[in-house]
Amino acid sequence: MKTAVTFPEVRAARASLAEPVGLVPTMGYLHAGHLSLVRSARSECASVVVSIFVNPTQFGPQEDLAAYPRDLTRDLQMLESEKVDLVWLPTSDAMYPPDYQTWVSVETVTQRLEGAMRPGHFRGVATVVTKLFTAVLPDKAYFGQKDAQQAVVVQQLTRDLNLPVQVVICPTVREPDGLALSSRNAYLSPEERRAAACLYRALSAAQSAFQAGERRAQELRKMMDKTLHQEPLAHVQYVSCADPVTLEELDGEITHALLSMAVFIGKTRLIDNLVIKEW
Ligand code: AMP
Repeated sequence: MKTAVTFPEVRAARASLAEPVGLVPTMGYLHAGHLSLVRSARSECASVVVSIFVNPTQFGPQEDLAAYPRDLTRDLQMLESEKVDLVWLPTSDAMYPPDYQTWVSVETVTQRLEGAMRPGHFRGVATVVTKLFTAVLPDKAYFGQKDAQQAVVVQQLTRDLNLPVQVVICPTVREPDGLALSSRNAYLSPEERRAAACLYRALSAAQSAFQAGERRAQELRKMMDKTLHQEPLAHVQYVSCADPVTLEELDGEITHALLSMAVFIGKTRLIDNLVIKEW
């Protein structure tokens, strides 16, 4: 497994990789969710590149950039075991030199949900993903459904900028109690960790109601809200029942939807989602 740090190093290393090349962008502190993306890439591509970069421009001023968990030694061991060909570890200074001025801004789909709560977040995501794509020139790039809006934004920017990259969205990997794996789960105390299962409980309650015939978007939102409010440690930021493509909030009778939510468990902000549709 090779590692690259600078842009010239990653370009040179990429040039000698067998095609097709799959890229898995991450912020490190890897878990089984990240590894499921790596395994999908490994099964579909001759070469696998993983980037590890805690992208400062997607964090708001009050967010957890400084505290974000990091363990590079462990990450590299995990990626070596997965037979990854190349790990790219760009520095913030190389990604955003002092005179940096160019941003990728995706419009409508970034204005709702996470974008409404985290101003500037998707500008940072779209910019770094574009820079990762143009440096690595992957044939395929792997993202998790866990970050549903990010998946929509990356697909939109890839289409809009005619980037020759196939974006692959992989299913959310969960703990046995349904909690979606996330690097931020490391912030949770044992009591909070127990409470955090309420996100998936709320999503599942709405999914079961939908499967039993409840088609009213507002009722599904109410049901998620009610389930979350049964957990004293949970503070709901939003619950949503939205169109999976436009991310517009739905009203009235629905046939399919992206159910999603952001919930504080103590100081830790967790997000999760499920797509529901009629068979
Ligand atoms: P992150 O390191 O949090 O930026 O995540 C890197 C990639 O892994 C993103 O495409 C995430 O959507 C994906 N990912 C994170 N958690 C999970 C999970 N539990 N299941 C599947 N993919 C995930």
